[in-house]
Amino acid sequence: MKTKKVELVAAPREPHWVGDGFRVHNFIPSGYHLEMQRMNPFILLDYNSKYTFPPSEKPKGVGTHPHRGFETVTIAYKGKVEHHDSSGGGGIIGEGDVQWMTAASGILHKEFHESEWSKKGGEFQMVQLWVNLPAKDKMSPPKYQAITKDEMGIVVLEENAGTVEVIAGEYNGTRGKASTFTPIHLMNAKLNKGGKASFSFHANYNTALLVLEGSITVNEAEAAPTNHFVLFENEGESFTVEADEDALVLIMSGEPLNEPIAAHGPFVMNTKAEILQAFEDYNKGKFGYLAD
Ligand code: MN
Repeated sequence: MKTKKVELVAAPREPHWVGDGFRVHNFIPSGYHLEMQRMNPFILLDYNSKYTFPPSEKPKGVGTHPHRGFETVTIAYKGKVEHHDSSGGGGIIGEGDVQWMTAASGILHKEFHESEWSKKGGEFQMVQLWVNLPAKDKMSPPKYQAITKDEMGIVVLEENAGTVEVIAGEYNGTRGKASTFTPIHLMNAKLNKGGKASFSFHANYNTALLVLEGSITVNEAEAAPTNHFVLFENEGESFTVEADEDALVLIMSGEPLNEPIAAHGPFVMNTKAEILQAFEDYNKGKFGYLAD
C-alpha cells in the first residue's frame, strides 16, 4: 500500500458563534481551499474547541431552524446537547455520544445545552459535521440515529497504544453502528503518549483528521498540534498517527459524491431551483412546526 500524504495542516480559524451556545472554528467549507466539494461528502465541519461556559439558568444554543438535503452529525466530547425537532423527536447527546440526524427532505430543529448541564456550566467541546446525501436520497424521510458511547465499535490497539472508537464504517474489522447512505468511515482514535495507529482508506476517498486533545505526528513527519486539522491527498491509502502526548483524534474518510452542490444556509441541494424550492416549502410550513 502506498502512503497517503498530508496535503495541508490547518490551524483553527478565529471562532464564531452559532446562536449563543456554540463557539466554533469552521474548517469546512470556508478557508484553506476547503470548498464543499473538496471533502464531499463532509461538506461542513464546525468545531467547538474546549470552552468553559458559566452557569446559566436559560440554556444557551440555537433556536428553531430548518435543514434539507444532508445529515448533521453531532459529536459531544465535553458537555451535553439537547435537541428537539418538528416531528416530536428529541434527545440528549451526552459526553462521548453521537447523534446522526438525517434531515433529508426537511426538518426543523433546535439545539441547546442540556438544561441541567447548563445550570452548572463547565467545559464544552463538540464537533458538528454535515454529511451530504446523494441526489437520489436528498428527499428521503428524516430520521435519527442516537449512538451512545457504549455502542461504539471498540478496537484495542496493540502495545498499549490506545483504542479506536468506530462511529461509522470500519476499522480493523470492527464496524461502527451508524448506517450511512454512502461509504463513510468515522472514528475517534484515543492514543496514549507514544502510541501509534495505522489507518487505511481507498485512495480516492476524501480523508482528514482533527486533533481534539494532545499533539500528534502524521506519517512520522508532519506535526499536528491540538485543534489542528489535517487534510490528506487523494492518492495512496495508508497513513500513521503517533501521539506525542496523550491524544484524541477524529478521523473521517468518505467516498466522494461526484454531483453538483447548490448550497444556501441550511439547505444543500444539487441545483439552484431545488434551493428555491426548499425556501418555498419552508415558507409554506412544509417542514412542520416547532416552537422556539
Ligand atoms: Mn441544526
